[in-house]
Amino acid sequence: MSKTAPVRKNEQRQLTFIDMTHEGSGVAKLDGYPIFVPNTLPGEVADVKIIFVKKNFAIGKLSNLIEVSPNRVEPPCEVYHQCGGCQLQHLDYASQLVMKQNQVKNVMHKVAHLPDIDVNPTIGMEHPWRYRNKVQIPVGEKNGELITGFYRKKSHDIIEGMERCIITDEVNDEMVNGVRDVANRVGIRAYDEKIHKGTLRHIVVRRGKQTNQVMLVLVTRTKEMPYKKQFIDGILSLYPEVNSIMQNVNGERTNVILGRQTFCLYGDDYIYDTIGDVKFAISAKSFYQVNPDQTKVLYDEALRMAQLTGSETVIDAYCGIGTISLFLAQQAKKVYGVEIVPEAIDDAKKNAEINQLSNTEFVVGQAEKVMPWWTSQGLRPDVIVVDPPRKGCEEALLEAMVTMGPERIVYVSCNPATLARDLKYLTEHSYEVKEIQPVDMFPQTSHVETICLLTRKL
Ligand code: SAH
Repeated sequence: MSKTAPVRKNEQRQLTFIDMTHEGSGVAKLDGYPIFVPNTLPGEVADVKIIFVKKNFAIGKLSNLIEVSPNRVEPPCEVYHQCGGCQLQHLDYASQLVMKQNQVKNVMHKVAHLPDIDVNPTIGMEHPWRYRNKVQIPVGEKNGELITGFYRKKSHDIIEGMERCIITDEVNDEMVNGVRDVANRVGIRAYDEKIHKGTLRHIVVRRGKQTNQVMLVLVTRTKEMPYKKQFIDGILSLYPEVNSIMQNVNGERTNVILGRQTFCLYGDDYIYDTIGDVKFAISAKSFYQVNPDQTKVLYDEALRMAQLTGSETVIDAYCGIGTISLFLAQQAKKVYGVEIVPEAIDDAKKNAEINQLSNTEFVVGQAEKVMPWWTSQGLRPDVIVVDPPRKGCEEALLEAMVTMGPERIVYVSCNPATLARDLKYLTEHSYEVKEIQPVDMFPQTSHVETICLLTRKL
């Protein structure tokens, strides 16, 4: 690679794209020097304006496509290029699945040093649209009228005229517009983050796909809500079937959507949903997987890889509200779950009760601290499942797993790079990788979810 960048800012270049980043930009190379250009695909040739130059990479903006990939499709979303929530709508779905599989293959080669390992084809969705069961939409104002829509890429400006999000559940999408119109009619003002005034910050809608139960969460700056009664009455006359209307108060100047306090304005505090035979109570603040169809696919894979017969002891580390734990508890002797968020563990215990799965035990704490402690207490599980956040597992946790020495480890990952790093450790410490299965939890976006089975050697 040359020492100085081979391109200058504002220069126009014709480039040939050979690869794609994990964020969905096309990659072209000049003498090994990479140039990343959003909205380009491998195999394409394009005129590009260079907009950002560093010593070891540059970023360009597509000006004109000269050779078009046969895998390119017209993005069906009207605001695709403004929004940034999806990164792959311009690539046909079959190619998205191949791209995700290749990305996992790549890191297995480069990071895990497992060049010969097979990666199964990505399990995709039959209808990879309208899959999200939760929507959280910012509320703003334009010419005295309330508007709703996602923020424009890298900004806090609401995309005007955004009436739908085609990866969001249709019921939720429609309800956001209905609630906004009622708020407009009764005179509710939007929160203005510049001056920290006004009322309505976000409209959140969650639907239990299997139960059809709907929860609406109105996020406001203050507990006091002008025209509250008219607002709720208006919503109920439009949506009499809604199960729960909650108010969440967020008085902070923050990008975090939900605040600390939540009140019930109408109906129940919880809605329910099921994944397979397990029932879950979902509150306004509970974490719950956003793609219920693929969650079932992913957990079925976890169950298959865990190979339970009913006599096993299992640990589910990073268990959240116990979704995987409860799924496995149906076929194991005992399941231990550990999770850092106390409210999630409260939900996990409640969900265990609802499902009468008394063979579960949930603990609040850092998995990398609790696992070594369990080890010192003599806990020796047959199977360990881990589902860490993007940064992957701490080494102390990997070490504890190796000391516990389960027959099988099932690793669920939302970041192939840290998965590969952790597999390197485990394969250097008496485990071997038996199967790697990407599951497409987030179609149209560049997120890659992978589940992997390891077994102990000897
Ligand atoms: N398995 C769950 C949730 C996985 S998301 C499901 O499928 O629904 C990852 C979880 O790890 C989150 O709930 C997060 O709160 C938790 N977490 C993050 N860091 C942690 C740590 N150091 N120890 C334990 N849990 C942690």
